[in-house]
Amino acid sequence: MMSIFIDGWETNLKFSAAHFIPYHNKCKRLHGHDYAIDIRIYGEIKNGMVADFVVVKKELRSLLENIDHKLILPMEGKDMTQKKENGQYKITYEGKTMIIPEEFVYLCNIEYSSSEELARFFVHEILKRVHFENNVKIIELSVYEGPGQKATWRENVE
Ligand SMILES: [Zn+2]
Repeated sequence: MMSIFIDGWETNLKFSAAHFIPYHNKCKRLHGHDYAIDIRIYGEIKNGMVADFVVVKKELRSLLENIDHKLILPMEGKDMTQKKENGQYKITYEGKTMIIPEEFVYLCNIEYSSSEELARFFVHEILKRVHFENNVKIIELSVYEGPGQKATWRENVE
């Protein structure tokens, strides 16, 4: 099978964001990372290509622009609560509370803002945004939490 690959560090599919992982010894503290996203798309060649690099990059960039320089807030976190009051999010875990303005927050339907869950989230978002032809079979997307370490989610496209 053929594949195409887009390197996020080289093609500017990057963003910076804050996050926290409740109950993790160090990551429970609010902190940030420089992230990048790689995507590999597997499929048969149709009209000379597997998928259009330009379209995929454009949609990924617009998605990342929404997250850039915000706090990634997991909306399905089970060991934390988040409540919106007067345009601010009140986030509580481990008996500690942070209040963050709504416009500084990116709401994400995940349990933890780990690179693993973010990788799966981005695959589902890109599948919503890009109409792939039926020659496309697999999407594989990696989220780098800084250079040198990444999590990868691979999904078969129906
Ligand atoms: Zn972190």
